[in-house]
This record gives sequence, structure tokens and C-alpha cells, in this order.
Amino acid sequence: LSGSGRLPRWLKRPIPKSNANHMTEGLLEELKLETVCDNAKCPNRMECYSQQTATFMILGNVCTRPCGFCAVHRGRPPELPESDEPDRVAEAAARLGLKHVVITSVTRDDLPDGGADHFYRCVVAVRERCGATTEVLTPDFVACKDALERVIQAKPTVFNHNMETVPRLYRRVRGPKSDYRWTLGMMRKVKEYDADVKTKSGLMLGLGEERGELLDALADLRDYDVDFLTLGQYLQPGEKYLPVVRYVPPEEFEELGEIAKSMGFKKVASGPFVRSSYHARDMAETDV
Ligand code: SF4
Ligand code: SF4
Repeated sequence: LSGSGRLPRWLKRPIPKSNANHMTEGLLEELKLETVCDNAKCPNRMECYSQQTATFMILGNVCTRPCGFCAVHRGRPPELPESDEPDRVAEAAARLGLKHVVITSVTRDDLPDGGADHFYRCVVAVRERCGATTEVLTPDFVACKDALERVIQAKPTVFNHNMETVPRLYRRVRGPKSDYRWTLGMMRKVKEYDADVKTKSGLMLGLGEERGELLDALADLRDYDVDFLTLGQYLQPGEKYLPVVRYVPPEEFEELGEIAKSMGFKKVASGPFVRSSYHARDMAETDV
């Protein structure tokens, strides 16, 4: 199947009937919070908002990296981190009654610590305010030696950093600063800093990866002791982004999920609509 035509039938689905998504949107607006759900035009927005789930995007909505798949605005971020943002995230989490809070950010290569201390403060604020488990989905902090350790000092339940694609496509998909081995190395360091923190990564399928390359990448993640895996379909967010090379059928996602489980991942989510924060609570509660 080519990715240039209409969506295949399995990628069309009804919009849930609920007012909860409006409530969630209203609260996020009131507290001036960004979500990756909106900024990345995630196809699960209606479902997640209607279940009062959202992935908070801290450190602004302008990214310093040019990933070819991502709809987040890029450029020069205008300001330093907002010092009250951790409290606003915690307030939103409490008012939405969230039990598991996912916190991500744009990449801030302009900040000396890449925003690591801000991640730390958000995780601590959420835990103290509402006792929810937390998941950080961080940038690669490629220019900041101590950043990862600072984030892990906050003791998030899950550390998530997406591999996104296979090594051959890495720079094309994730931009010139990305480094496949660096991504893997981060996973190992997290466990060295704090063995209690669960690790998670994910890939988008349909960007031109070969099956063998994909299985090799999954084996690499297991070699680096990654606990959880997400596999989802890449969807082109607009004309100027990387094209979809292939729509992977649901049965193939299912099969790949089974293979991944047999490789030793403790929990796997694999399906066309899976995103790295989709049903994240379920994974976070899994023992490793
Ligand atoms: Fe937001 Fe994640 Fe749900 Fe997408 S899958 S709408 S990013 S919480
Ligand atoms: Fe999007 Fe993250 Fe890439 Fe920035 S670094 S463009 S937020 S995927």
C-alpha cells in the first residue's frame, strides 16, 4: 500500500461522543498548558481527552530540532522556562483526577541543561500534589552531560525516550543531531542511575524501514534492558513532512507485538493508533 493516497479502512474510526474532551480542553486553556496531543495533532485526541488523559508538553511549544515527522513548531524558543509551570501541571493533573501523568517537552538545545531541572520540578510537583505515577518522555539531551541524571533524580515511574525509527533512517527522520547509539546509551544510563525506574521506547512504522532492520532495532532495545515498547503507524501531519511509505495492517502490528513480547519486553503496545503515551498507565503499572 502506498502512503500517498487515502487512508486505509483501519485508520478510519468514529469520534467518541463525550463532553469530557471539552472539559479537558477548557482546563488546559485556563491553566495555559500545552499538550503534545494538540501540538503533534495526535489522532487519539478525542479518545484520550474523553478519558481525561493528556500528555503535558512543558518548556514551550517551539522546538529547536527539525524532525521530519513532527508537527510541533520549530525555531528559536522565545523564553526561559516558566517557573510556575510545574505547579500548573500539578494543578491540572489534580483537577483532571489523573492517576498517571505523562510529561514531555520540545527539545531545548538553547538551555544550558536542556530543561532537565524543569522536568525534575514538574515530576516532583505532580507527585506531591496528587500522588500520581509519572512518566517523562524526554528529548535526547545530547548537549548536556548531566541532564539525564537530573531528570532521574526526580524518580519518575517510567523514563521514556523514543527510538522512533531504525538506524539507517535515523538522521532523515530525527534530524542531523540525532544519534542511534546515544539513544540506546541513555536507556542504559537510566538503569545505572536508578534501577527502580522503568524504561520505555517506541518506534513509528511506515517510514521505509525493512522488517529485518526493525527486528534488529528491537533486539538492540532489549540488549539495553528496555522494559516497555510501543509500535504505531506513522501518519504524515501535513504536506511538508516525510511521506508515509507504507500503511502497516493491524494483523502485522499484532504479529510484531507478539514477536516483541517473545524478545522479553515486559509490556508491548502495537497497533496503528498506538502512540508512546497511549494507554500509558497500563504499562506504568506493570512490574518489571
Ligand atoms: Fe495525547 Fe498520548 Fe493520547 Fe495522543 S496518545 S492524545 S499524545 S495522551
Ligand atoms: Fe518534535 Fe521532539 Fe523532534 Fe522537536 S525533538 S521536532 S518536539 S519530535
